[in-house]
Amino acid sequence: MTPLLPGTVVDGRPATLGVLGGGQLGRMFVHTAQALGYETVVLDPDPASPAGRVSHHFIQAGYTDADALGRLANLAHAVTTEFENVPADALAALARTRPVAPAAQAVAIAQDRIREKAHFARCAAASGVAPAPHAVIDGEAALAAVPDGLLPGVLKTARLGYDGKGQARVASRDALAAAWVRLGRVDCVLEQLLPLAAECSVIVARGRDGQVVSLPVQRNLHRGGILAVTEVHEGNMPPALASQAREATINIANELAYVGVLCVEYFVLQDGRLVVNEMAPRPHNSGHYSVDACDASQFELQARALAGLPLAPPRQHSAAVMLNLLGELWFGAAGAPRTPPWAEILALPGAHLHLYGKAEARPGRKMGHLTFTGASAEAVRANALRAAALLGIEPF
Ligand code: ADP
Ligand code: MG
Repeated sequence: MTPLLPGTVVDGRPATLGVLGGGQLGRMFVHTAQALGYETVVLDPDPASPAGRVSHHFIQAGYTDADALGRLANLAHAVTTEFENVPADALAALARTRPVAPAAQAVAIAQDRIREKAHFARCAAASGVAPAPHAVIDGEAALAAVPDGLLPGVLKTARLGYDGKGQARVASRDALAAAWVRLGRVDCVLEQLLPLAAECSVIVARGRDGQVVSLPVQRNLHRGGILAVTEVHEGNMPPALASQAREATINIANELAYVGVLCVEYFVLQDGRLVVNEMAPRPHNSGHYSVDACDASQFELQARALAGLPLAPPRQHSAAVMLNLLGELWFGAAGAPRTPPWAEILALPGAHLHLYGKAEARPGRKMGHLTFTGASAEAVRANALRAAALLGIEPF
């Protein structure tokens, strides 16, 4: 495609980027696309969606509503997604009339853990980074055939899992069978429970011309299956592991002929080995620091890849620590609603507060994030730890 240049008029309409999904990722994409000079259109079923509320155009509809998808294609010159569970058919339908990135076929792989792991296993030959030992559980026979070596394990639904939902830790065959019934007997993957020393992720952006750029490797701390803290600074990861993760991610993107922003999550095992966990065909929570700490954020890379603009290699200019702000922070000791102490937080040097405009706080719900930037890892960690203490987030 010829690049969709920002601020131009194309076929009688201002150059417009569309996004399927109206959550916080869509909202930050919209903010960035608008700053570049594009108009935006968001499609989401929720009338109060965080992205819908800040977009030039908002189509409140389901992802399979053919009429609504038609309206989206009429408004947008190119369409992306902020949400991996968007039906691949919706992306395929849009792709008949508009450039769509990432493509339906890549999203279909990322939204199915069985296909995703098969892709990782194929890439392992070149990258040396394999997925966890696992088995597909698609019925009673597969359940009975599970090798003992996969227990204790983690049973994960093939589809629709996120933030630790749709998974269960199982220590025995009985627990495995019971968990599979509890998860609704849907197709699952059983993975060996691995001894983790750390977790990390890598975000790459790949253009239609095959050019790939990457953000620095992010070290991630999950609590209760949800990302809690991301640290990106010198010394966050052993350099050899970081470059192995980066190379493996580029390989995974290339082998998908991927276009857009892709995030791949990794485990670092206690013996130092790197294991590939899962991928998201979109910007990722662990990349939010890039908005404040890099000269091109993951959302800018998403907009550029979608519009067919050049992808200049991004540079991190500040050390960064990001804290996720989950709904429980909006409740005090006795469960009474409260506003977190923003004034004290914003008095700390290098604090960048991002709230997503969600009306109702619920425990575990991602309400916003807080990034600290600074000149050194020590300085950002110290300020982030002060903020964590003020907010009631456990130290890290
Ligand atoms: P989600 O889609 O919910 O993010 P993940 O597969 O990334 O699902 O699992 C969430 C978290 O659970 C991981 O970040 C990791 O902390 C833990 N976890 C998942 N699989 C394993 C495993 N095989 N061994 C050890 N810990 C795991
Ligand atoms: Mg994950």
